[in-house]
Amino acid sequence: MSYRAVKGMNDILPDEVARWHALERAFRETAELHGYAEIRTPVVEGTELFVRSIGETTDVVEKEMYTFSHHSESLTLRPEGTAGAARAYVEHKAHAKEPVSRWYYLGPMFRAERPQRGRYRQFYQAGCEIFGDPGPACDAEMIDMLVGLFRRLGVADVVANIGSIGGAATRDRYRAVLRDFLAPKAGELSDHARARLDANPLRILDSKDPRDQAACQGAPNILDVLDEADRAHFEALLGHLDSLGTPYVVDPLLVRGLDYYTRTLFELKSSAGELGSQNTLCGGGRYDDMIRGLGGPAVPAIGFAMGLERILLALGPIDAPKRTTCSVAPMGARAVSKALELGRALREAGVVADVDGRGNSLKSMLRRADGLGARFCIVLGDAELERGAVQLKDLAQHTQEELPMAAVVARVAGGAG
Ligand code: AMP
Repeated sequence: MSYRAVKGMNDILPDEVARWHALERAFRETAELHGYAEIRTPVVEGTELFVRSIGETTDVVEKEMYTFSHHSESLTLRPEGTAGAARAYVEHKAHAKEPVSRWYYLGPMFRAERPQRGRYRQFYQAGCEIFGDPGPACDAEMIDMLVGLFRRLGVADVVANIGSIGGAATRDRYRAVLRDFLAPKAGELSDHARARLDANPLRILDSKDPRDQAACQGAPNILDVLDEADRAHFEALLGHLDSLGTPYVVDPLLVRGLDYYTRTLFELKSSAGELGSQNTLCGGGRYDDMIRGLGGPAVPAIGFAMGLERILLALGPIDAPKRTTCSVAPMGARAVSKALELGRALREAGVVADVDGRGNSLKSMLRRADGLGARFCIVLGDAELERGAVQLKDLAQHTQEELPMAAVVARVAGGAG
């Protein structure tokens, strides 16, 4: 019997992790510079939280959630991060502690999707949420932060697509307009879209089925039915982006896959070849009604989530800072405890140190040092022990020198010298 990871859930092996760390570091630094503080919520929540917040007739809730029952509770592996953050915001009455909360998170999400390049069943998202600020200035700041982050990371050709879905009243009006437009074409729609025509026609705009996409050609534009307040919000957002010089494209047909959005919507896409059709790196928007819907006060909110796997696919190599590495190669049993001591002293001096205690030949220990990418190898055998000395091999310069044991740590920590 051979064991394999579950389909669509991937191991991230040690030699790939440096790129993840570099991306995560850039995200954290950027978020913290903008005043966000990290929140960590459980990966499992009560199922009802996601049904209520994401929406019953969304793809995520209808078919992508990993739900299981435990005793009499229905639990779900989180498919996204906003619902949990909003639940925590209400549960801990964060609104009573500060007027505006800026939170970020980073972690695994789970969706039972058909796995393909850039689409997995366990994937990692990093996201930010602002609770308590109605925008539009903070909407612009968030989009500008993302454009800046992607530029800093060096993701090629990122475009910010921006739309507005209006508030509840606008959306009700638009739903009716869209239903009237699509109803005569009901026969041309996919079965799934036809079933959604009454309950949630907006989702049909988002369908990947070519029949639905054809039927939506020429559909009325939501930006034409925004009410006055929604329009003013949207225009002010675009005005702020213009004055910041943040590049964007207005996408009147932008509807995102989750039901909780109000007003501002945005997606950042890249044309990097590796991504193919999974080219949305980041999606977000305002969700002004969610906190109240979850039993909290009427607190407006906005947030985004970006997929770390997709960003890594879009990125070339990331330079991770490299520390000096030194392997310690003891020859013979007596030298091993001295080697362990040297290993500890090297680490205390900030050097990555590896002690090869396998009792193998010098040749094999040097091969291991090479494999680790070590700059130095300290060799110590009985003869060196007697003299209180070590042999220091510089594996980059191909040189060797004998040094007093007491001097070798400072020499290695000083680098190439
Ligand atoms: P969403 O939560 O659906 O708005 O997705 C936000 C971002 O998360 C997307 O733009 C992707 O970058 C990423 N994402 C969503 N679903 C997946 C998935 N199944 N696999 C990998 N990344 C995903």
